Amino acid sequence: MSDKLVNILLVEDDEVDVMNVKRAFKKNNITNPLFICNNGVEALQFLRGESEIPLIEIPKIILLDINMPKMGGIEFLGEIRKDEHLKNMSVFIMTTSNEDKDKVDAYNLNVAGYILKPLSMERFIEAVSTLNNYWKLCEFPEN
Ligand SMILES: [Mg+2]
Repeated sequence: MSDKLVNILLVEDDEVDVMNVKRAFKKNNITNPLFICNNGVEALQFLRGESEIPLIEIPKIILLDINMPKMGGIEFLGEIRKDEHLKNMSVFIMTTSNEDKDKVDAYNLNVAGYILKPLSMERFIEAVSTLNNYWKLCEFPEN
């Protein structure tokens, strides 16, 4: 298992949810570099090196909200799966959408998991711990 920490991208429009993810990372001592974009458009720009946030390395993992302005999570997923450089990213949906259509669409676009919010802070910290154990266990290609 490689010791290198993979970069993680959080795509989330809600400031409170962003704070909760940061808090859960801290509580679980997760030190992977965490990048934040507020919607699909911003995330695509970031991943394509077109944003102010410099892109040193494409993140291996995305934590993705569904309902966001400008470009939602499902449309964003469709875009990255069509993109030769981005199509292999591991994507975990974190959403309040309990719509079956969103779940079907997400899995058709090969998400690694679909997590329904809200969870209590305690359960959310646990959920993030589980995700951390999962991606620590996985091997990722260098590039
Ligand atoms: Mg949202």
